[in-house]
Amino acid sequence: MPTEYTNYVGGQWTESERGDTFDVRNPADTDEVIGTYQASTEADVEDAIETAVATQGDWAGTPGPERGRILRDTGEALAVRKDEATETLVREEGKTRSEAAGEVQRAIDIFRYYAEKSRDLGGTSKASSAPASELYTKREPLGTVGLITPWNYPIAIPAWKLAPALAAGNTVVIKPASQAPSMTRIIFECLDKAGLPSGVANLVTGSGSEVGAPLAAHDEIDGVSFTGSTSVGTAVAQSAADDLKRVQCEMGGKNPTVVMPSADIDSAVDIVGVGAFGTTGQSCTACSRAIVHEDVYDEFVEAITDYAESLEIGPGLNDPDMGPHVSRGELDSTLEYVDIARDDGATLQTGGNECTGDEYDGGFFVEPTVVTEVESEMRIAQEEVFGPVLAVVKVSDFEEAVAVANDVDYGLSASIVTQDLTEANRFVDAVEAGVAKVNEKTTGLELHVPFGGYKDSSTNTYREQGDAGLDFFTATKTVYMNY
Ligand code: NAP
Repeated sequence: MPTEYTNYVGGQWTESERGDTFDVRNPADTDEVIGTYQASTEADVEDAIETAVATQGDWAGTPGPERGRILRDTGEALAVRKDEATETLVREEGKTRSEAAGEVQRAIDIFRYYAEKSRDLGGTSKASSAPASELYTKREPLGTVGLITPWNYPIAIPAWKLAPALAAGNTVVIKPASQAPSMTRIIFECLDKAGLPSGVANLVTGSGSEVGAPLAAHDEIDGVSFTGSTSVGTAVAQSAADDLKRVQCEMGGKNPTVVMPSADIDSAVDIVGVGAFGTTGQSCTACSRAIVHEDVYDEFVEAITDYAESLEIGPGLNDPDMGPHVSRGELDSTLEYVDIARDDGATLQTGGNECTGDEYDGGFFVEPTVVTEVESEMRIAQEEVFGPVLAVVKVSDFEEAVAVANDVDYGLSASIVTQDLTEANRFVDAVEAGVAKVNEKTTGLELHVPFGGYKDSSTNTYREQGDAGLDFFTATKTVYMNY
């Protein structure tokens, strides 16, 4: 019998008022139910917001070092449960054991990092133009914030929103993705163990329409931090804008890696291959376009095809190179894009099929896929696929490579593989992306640097992570003090 889990509201584990639930299944073996969660309603969201608003003043008044102590103890409680959390992440979302362990460690480190930040939120002192007057700024918590998160990094993303929000003295209501709510539940068990006061952080599970939308629209919510698709994020931003609340949406990507003639092709293949097929291509920063100079195009295509065909695919618990898609819907969408690419005139170089056979029958496995002879205007080169599909575009010079890299609505992460310093710097200057990398995969970013996109990848209001992660969750007050 799978365990039934509840919401966490006002420091209590509570059932949804309607009493409905939904099951979460293992994408590598759909017979396995990972857990049963509350299909909450707008009334549950109202309750959670009410308790969060009521406790905000006390939490903001809690000294920074004590807020930090709770975050640090949360990180340590998570560290004690690292193996269990890793296994749950694999069973629920499907990524490999190594990928999941790295993500859980990331969440632990995020709590440790913001534990220190809560001690010093900063502020500036300015010279006043008047005599006997002090002029300074102080940072205050925004208030009560709503957090909405996706399934693809189901512990790192909730951690990188919750930790800075709480460090800065905000109270929180979070709605995790319905496909992977367990990791947020584990974080809340750790927050509870660390002694977080009742009502400061509240967890409500349920659908985007019944929980996410009312949370984003609620007039007692002072800020909404959302990560997910560009279509949902756009609706969230519009709804939040109705009453002028602060909003931050980090959304999709169509990330390129440019491969120039001076590149070492083996290392270019590793950079592109890990970026494209790691996490089953289900990263916002996944490399989905290789833009390759004609001088090395044939060599690159042959090597990346070998790379894709060499990958071991299987259940994440066995720690293969690539796990399953998270759901039937995501798998079908990937296969549909393979058809679209072929219909538009591209060549299917390798992959493009659902995996079959005993090991694969109960799950959502797909072959790593390389599509060549892609033109930039094709849908396979324009739209986010969110699966292990690499589109390879041939270009004849650096200028064309940059033009193709920028020829999409998205602008999250971009990289170039080159040994030419001038090319590297010109790429960093010209590429329209929030993250630009040289001789590095498009995925992955350390936790202490700002993360966010350009163009349709982001509302471009604030960045996440590092010091920038605190900006969204604080308001700046300017103070005149005459004496
Ligand atoms: P999604 O479908 O947009 O869902 C994201 C979250 O929004 C989920 O919690 C979802 O709830 C909720 N939601 C759905 N409809 C809503 C509504 N009308 N109002 C408010 N909330 C609503 O995205 P996803 O499939 O989970 O995640 C994949 C996407 O996230 C990709 O596009 C990827 O690029 C993007 N992503 C971006 C970043 C970044 O930092 N830029 C990082 C990771 C992922 P349910 O789960 O209940 O539907």
